[in-house]
Amino acid sequence: MFSYRHKKHGNLDIIAFDGTMNESVKECCQGLGQSMGNNVRFNFKEVDCVTSLGARFWLAFLSSFETGRKIEYEECSHEVIQQINIFPRFIGHGHILSFYGAFTCPHCGHEESILFSGDRDPEELIDSSTDQLCSECQQPTELDEDERAFFRFLDQTS
Ligand SMILES: [Zn+2]
Repeated sequence: MFSYRHKKHGNLDIIAFDGTMNESVKECCQGLGQSMGNNVRFNFKEVDCVTSLGARFWLAFLSSFETGRKIEYEECSHEVIQQINIFPRFIGHGHILSFYGAFTCPHCGHEESILFSGDRDPEELIDSSTDQLCSECQQPTELDEDERAFFRFLDQTS
């Protein structure tokens, strides 16, 4: 079940979503438009999967929700970034502050998520993603998909 936790920092509303983004997005996001202020940050760290129906409900929700609001996204999971690469409209007019890349070490098999800032130059990010070291064995670790395909959203959304 898709759900969220809400925190307030001054005039910023932070909404941390959790779970699989499927048809339950509709019910989960109902009422957010009435209860949130004009500055909203969505945290997508715990969103582990996005279904096509979930993406459709999300887009429908966002198109009205973002009217008159400034929206930011933080800690977007690897799965959310894959969606944004398919549908750049997934984040509307919002801005990505940070996101995770999923890495698997070819030396020891250790899997980990590494956080990147969304405010960096795509070329620079592609370079730095190939310089990441495994936290277990300190050998170079590798992004789970092609770097150019994964970081493509930075060109589309900036
Ligand atoms: Zn390793």
